[in-house]
Amino acid sequence: MIEYEKLSEANKPFKKEFIEIFDKFLDKGLYILGEQVARFEGEFANYIGVKHCIGVANGLDALTLPLLAWDFEAGSEVIVPSNTYIATILAIIQAGLTPILVEPDIQTYNIDPSKIEEKISKKTKAICVVHLYGKACHMEKIMQIATRHQLKVLEDCAQSHGAKYQQKKTGSFGNAGAFSFYPTKNLGSLGDAGAIVCEDDELAYQLRSLRNYGSSVRYKNEYLGVNSRLDEIQAAFLRVKLKQLDLLNQHKRNLASLYLKEIDDQFIKPVVEKECFDVYHIFNIRHNRRDSLKEFLLQNGVKSDIHYPTPPHKQKATLSYFSEDFPISEEIHKTTLSLPISIVHTPEEIQRVSELLNEFGKKQKH
Ligand SMILES: *Cc1c(COP(=O)(O)O)cnc(C)c1O
Repeated sequence: MIEYEKLSEANKPFKKEFIEIFDKFLDKGLYILGEQVARFEGEFANYIGVKHCIGVANGLDALTLPLLAWDFEAGSEVIVPSNTYIATILAIIQAGLTPILVEPDIQTYNIDPSKIEEKISKKTKAICVVHLYGKACHMEKIMQIATRHQLKVLEDCAQSHGAKYQQKKTGSFGNAGAFSFYPTKNLGSLGDAGAIVCEDDELAYQLRSLRNYGSSVRYKNEYLGVNSRLDEIQAAFLRVKLKQLDLLNQHKRNLASLYLKEIDDQFIKPVVEKECFDVYHIFNIRHNRRDSLKEFLLQNGVKSDIHYPTPPHKQKATLSYFSEDFPISEEIHKTTLSLPISIVHTPEEIQRVSELLNEFGKKQKH
């Protein structure tokens, strides 16, 4: 069986270091907001190419806290792509704001910059872009729109650790970038973890305070904060993996090149653009018989996944927020299939999956 994800395998190379780290951590007795969190924050800010990094408990909080810090009037609008993972939408709603969906570009699956301005109203305060599947959005156009309309830009980088647009890393374009280190992400911890990156000193100060009960000085509460601290032990694990992130991303990029070369053109494959350095959190293809294809792969020993089966505007929880149709998003959700592309998959496995796809494709023609 070719699994879709093999987390225990993926973390095996780090086992010895992880155990040493745990030993030291246990002996030291400093379990929350210690030296490891501070060090990871410094190293990750440096990796992304920004001044500040603030470790938080998960990716959802990393998205929510900057929206709270900006303190927009309740009911203000935030532009967000209609095909994102539900977390991006929930962050906006939890911050007391209204998500305004914009359709993605059918080629890149990222928010279509040419459709943003028609959705901007007097209430619009921010654009939240999502670098979906590990491909950077076209940030030049998006930043121009934001400047023109004086909007904040929040980047959802939960799938794009190390991805670049015009040589600059995702997370370094907007007013803030939100990362998740959920175990399956390109930089994954051994539990929940997240971080926010930003350039602005005051925002960094506020975020540091917000994640810790709105307090920067013990027992002095300046903001209505939350408890969303990055665990000390997760920070220590993340420091080990961060050193290898470029190598891990390169492995995924090599597997993606192989898929792109081997898979027949009747499948819609991810686009490769010269200004984008993609890190393939997910390698998706599209086919109009997606469900049969998924079943065929499974029958032949290959597990695949769907990101995502249902768009946010059709989810029960968020249904009442949206009344329009989003046909491009729906088309993607109906036809997309994610193929195995983890750091422990081998080129031989990718070859095998590609052959199976092409075999399925041939059958469809007859
Ligand atoms: C994973 C993910 C999140 C949420 O991250 P958590 O750490 O699970 O809270 C947000 N946005 C996107 C696009 C994601 O893929």
